[in-house]
Amino acid sequence: MTRRILIAELKQETATFNPAATVYEDFRITVGADMLESYRGTKTEVAGVIDVLDDDGRFEIIPTMAAASVSGGCIGNTDLDRLLNEMVDSIRAAGPVDGACLCFHGAMAGESEDDPEGRVLTDIRSVLGAVPIVVSLDLHAVITDRLVDTADVLVPYHTYPHTDHYETGQRAACNLLRLLDGTSRPTVARVELPMLVRGDELLTASGKFGEAIRMCQQVEHSDTGLAAGVIIGNAFTDVPALQSNVLVTTNNDYELAEREAQRIGRFMWDRRELFQAQLTSLDESICLAASADGTVVFSDAADATASGAAGDSNEILRGLVDAEFSKKALLAIVDAPAVSQAFRAGVNTSITVPLGGTRDPSRFTPLTLTVDITSLHDGHFAYEDGTAAHAGRACVLTSGTIHILVTERPVFVVGQRVFQAHGLEPADYDLVVVKSPNGFRTWYESIASLIVPVDVPGSTSANLKSLPFRNCVRPIFPLDDNVPSPFHGS
Ligand SMILES: [Zn+2]
Repeated sequence: MTRRILIAELKQETATFNPAATVYEDFRITVGADMLESYRGTKTEVAGVIDVLDDDGRFEIIPTMAAASVSGGCIGNTDLDRLLNEMVDSIRAAGPVDGACLCFHGAMAGESEDDPEGRVLTDIRSVLGAVPIVVSLDLHAVITDRLVDTADVLVPYHTYPHTDHYETGQRAACNLLRLLDGTSRPTVARVELPMLVRGDELLTASGKFGEAIRMCQQVEHSDTGLAAGVIIGNAFTDVPALQSNVLVTTNNDYELAEREAQRIGRFMWDRRELFQAQLTSLDESICLAASADGTVVFSDAADATASGAAGDSNEILRGLVDAEFSKKALLAIVDAPAVSQAFRAGVNTSITVPLGGTRDPSRFTPLTLTVDITSLHDGHFAYEDGTAAHAGRACVLTSGTIHILVTERPVFVVGQRVFQAHGLEPADYDLVVVKSPNGFRTWYESIASLIVPVDVPGSTSANLKSLPFRNCVRPIFPLDDNVPSPFHGS
């Protein structure tokens, strides 16, 4: 009888400082055969898993449920229960399987559940019994004891910006195949690092983080290596387990796992001062954009919908208006009432409309502008990796030389497709504002003459001391001074 491997996906990254809750309806859910159909041929982790299993040819793939949402605020108890219960039910309904590959983000948080992935993984384990379960994770995952203890192998991303989703899926599936073939006995070493990291040194191509990741890859490529990574947590998921972790999993070689985890952990800890963001004030940023040639890209990491912020910041827009910025600028904002007003007025008309502050009103005050309604859209499009997005309804509003993509719902403003799908070509602008701390570099470095990380307020500010942490591991760098070293004898 053909052996069966179950696959499932659960992805959302939570910023607990964003007051706008993530709701069940924010998740794009596909089940059964629809899951296979919608992921095949994409550059996602699920596709990486599917392709490895297809190539191997010995197993029947059992698709269960995939649920993915844009990043956002905490998920309410009722919505989280519904989501996780549906996932466990879909897995129970699949019947007995020989193994499972689960693609999680790892940094979800509920209204009162600090570890949704740990909870659902525990439930899945009790349904599936003692079969191998491999879990892939974003390197921004929050690592809990439950995750480490319940999965056979955790396989994290290696690249930041993330460009190895597909390869991570492949690495996870290869680990599962080895377990099913009986050729691996995973043993894991974990080093917990009381540090939250930001800034350019996280770029794997050029930064110190990349050096640590290449050490992890050396371990993975060694005779007994299975999976290794530095998992830094999403700094805005303020839950008790939030910190950085090194995880090294080997094939029954605990000595190597422990030695390498310690070495990589020390490497990160000793360089912690480097992992802080260098931000530029809004005034100075606008001056730079006014005098630069080519397309300047502002990173509004503080209102990064990619990190879980609300997406309704108008801080940079206000700065541009106040400075009478006269070059062509492109930015995005989430504002459902403004979209409604635009739809009521119709295209090629003019309205006076408050913009911003509808979702995170304690941080942002509405800015009233008179704008032209340039276009109206249904908000359906696909991101660069092929996955579908829904912005709710959307419109393009024009204020002088500033074009504003206004959406009813938050979407990732990381790539160029979000703009192109609404008739806006980033390369045609002197200034483009993205809502992403670093992921945007993949899509903008080729057109950017200058990239400026702008210091504005927001629930995902890289200025971590500006945020009201209450739950994460303390003391922790850089929130606290003189944090004791996690290493003995240092
Ligand atoms: Zn991430």
